[in-house]
Amino acid sequence: MLDFWDIKQEILTKIKKNGGWVNCHGHMDRAYSLTPERLKLMNKLREEKWQLNKELRKSSTVTDIYERMAKATETLLEQGCNVTGTFIDVDYDVKDKAIKAAEKVRSQYKEMKFVFLNQSSYGILTEESRKWFEYGADFVDIIGGLLKADQGHEKEHLDILLQAAKTRSKMVHIHVDENNIMKEKETEILANKVIEHEMIGKVVGIHGISINAHPKEYRESLYKLIKQSQLMFIACPMSWINARRSEELTPTHNPVTPLDEMYLHGITVGLGIDNIGDIFMAFNDANLWNDLRLLMECNRFYEVDELVKIATSNGRKILGI
Ligand SMILES: [Zn+2]
Repeated sequence: MLDFWDIKQEILTKIKKNGGWVNCHGHMDRAYSLTPERLKLMNKLREEKWQLNKELRKSSTVTDIYERMAKATETLLEQGCNVTGTFIDVDYDVKDKAIKAAEKVRSQYKEMKFVFLNQSSYGILTEESRKWFEYGADFVDIIGGLLKADQGHEKEHLDILLQAAKTRSKMVHIHVDENNIMKEKETEILANKVIEHEMIGKVVGIHGISINAHPKEYRESLYKLIKQSQLMFIACPMSWINARRSEELTPTHNPVTPLDEMYLHGITVGLGIDNIGDIFMAFNDANLWNDLRLLMECNRFYEVDELVKIATSNGRKILGI
């Protein structure tokens, strides 16, 4: 019988050898929160969904949140993933319930290294939202940001975020350029702010999908700026497979972090699962291989050893461990 090369097995073996899978990004506190009623909200806009999760944040008990996080943790552990980053909601709806659940999950699952980040779905500019942001910032390992939550006030949002990180000596992970449209230039704004605040090498952009929607000349100058600021990126390919149809004319591309081009510029990229079974991604089941597979196919990127690094050591660097 012919001896076939099992490339998937080779990658999986190398990932194991290199310390196991690292999941750089998720929202484990609302994993598996889908119901038949909530499934009807799938086609609402992303910005609307942060508000639509309001009820969930209000009504969930610490035990509810803990159980969601525990199930997601077990799903990752089964795959040989022993390091995970996850955002947890901290705002005036959920208050400190997700923090308490996170503490419990960390103490229950010693075999998993958790890195927690704070999500502020109402932004950080109003007095009430800022209060909860600062509270969350004290607890988490890495400061989390959602630039779209303060749309139109991006620079202000970043000043607060980067200052909060600097005073606490913490890194920053921030959602940027998510909508796959040319209008978005959030990565550029972020990179410039990172340089201004002297946070070089300490900040990570999550997604960066819209970079693809710009002409090549813009992308190339952006990669140089990214290099200067030493921004790193997290790709969550499954999470963006449902990018919306648009009539905007842009360079033909897949909705994914542009790993193919970032690799050529020496930019560090890691992997994340993002939303699991919630109103953002109803069918995402936290399968890291599926995310890695989609990342390579969408970018036509087949460097085996580099893919192994993306799934392992790049992730540890991105999570600051
Ligand atoms: Zn996210």
